[in-house]
Amino acid sequence: MVSKENFAIEANAISANKQKPFLISGPCSAETEEQVHQTIDALILHNPNIHVIRAGIWKPRTRPGAFEGIGKVGLSWLKDACTKHDKPCTVEVANKSHVEEALDAGIDMLWIGARTTVNPFGVQEIADALKGVDIPILIKNPVNPDIDLWIGAFERLNKAGIKNLTAIHRGFSSYTKSEYRNKPNWEIPIELKRRFPDLAMICDPSHICGRRDTLLKVAQKAMDLNFDGLMIESHINPDQAWSDANQQITPLQLKELLENIVLRENKIVDEETDLSLVEMRSKIDRIDNYIIELLAERMSISEEIGSYKAKNNITIYQPKRWSQIVDRMLKIGTQNGLSEAFILKLIQQINKESIRHQTNIMNKKDA
Ligand code: PEP
Ligand code: MN
Repeated sequence: MVSKENFAIEANAISANKQKPFLISGPCSAETEEQVHQTIDALILHNPNIHVIRAGIWKPRTRPGAFEGIGKVGLSWLKDACTKHDKPCTVEVANKSHVEEALDAGIDMLWIGARTTVNPFGVQEIADALKGVDIPILIKNPVNPDIDLWIGAFERLNKAGIKNLTAIHRGFSSYTKSEYRNKPNWEIPIELKRRFPDLAMICDPSHICGRRDTLLKVAQKAMDLNFDGLMIESHINPDQAWSDANQQITPLQLKELLENIVLRENKIVDEETDLSLVEMRSKIDRIDNYIIELLAERMSISEEIGSYKAKNNITIYQPKRWSQIVDRMLKIGTQNGLSEAFILKLIQQINKESIRHQTNIMNKKDA
């Protein structure tokens, strides 16, 4: 939990945009002048309403030896190609000289990448370089699922006087393999939005998926979660891209993907539906109350067990009992249509709270 929620956001073109989704697209990297122009020309041809064009100029790569970006020369390719179509453009910045060079080249918006958000020194350097500059800044989530680190980046920029801020959710890296390149952990952007309702939120399905075939599913989910927009990588010849080839799509495929997204209303319009929804929601609230009461009851039994363990000098954690609990819960849970992953997380959280209660009791002198 952060103790103070203190950054000021002004409504911007992204949060105010009615024609959802606010669309940012373009290649992962600017590679050649021809590739930049061809990609952007085709993007505009197939997606004339695109809002902003992106291209990576300096690429933070996980391992050295990969293509690390074309550098400064690419800025004018991007700017020229966008000026031709009267569209704004954005690039990633990771340090002071990137900021200065991007501003000199007339880039319209800047984004901070996931590998920079994770580093407060890097974010502070960018914030200092931006003092007195009124330019929209988009901040990707840090690579690790740490909401405070993400919020901290907004606060640093805000302290430098920047109020035109937008979040980009690009998923979180993890050691275990999954269908995602970066796990979405949707609860994190949802929580960010709960704490900062005015903050515009863009989803980046390209870096979440790491592949083309699941882009639509993730983009649809983002729209259903009421995100304001999408940042999707596109390339004139994705298979030949110098970075992130597996996840890029052609401008035409982007058009098709967008046509397949179902846009739903985020408020109930029909009164009849509204009434039944109110009823369903009050049922949910009753059940939630009941869950909390049951959990409280469970914790008071845990405390009794804590005193028993203290008197008999036995450890809180009993591996055999814990594995019985997990097995039993997984069995009942799956029989009732709940996923194993959910049950496991639930019981782990309950157990953690139970250990906290037991520890408190056991550490009391008179336990
Ligand atoms: C990118 O947008 O190309 C990029 C490097 O993204 P991320 O910071 O999300 O890894
Ligand atoms: Mn990329």
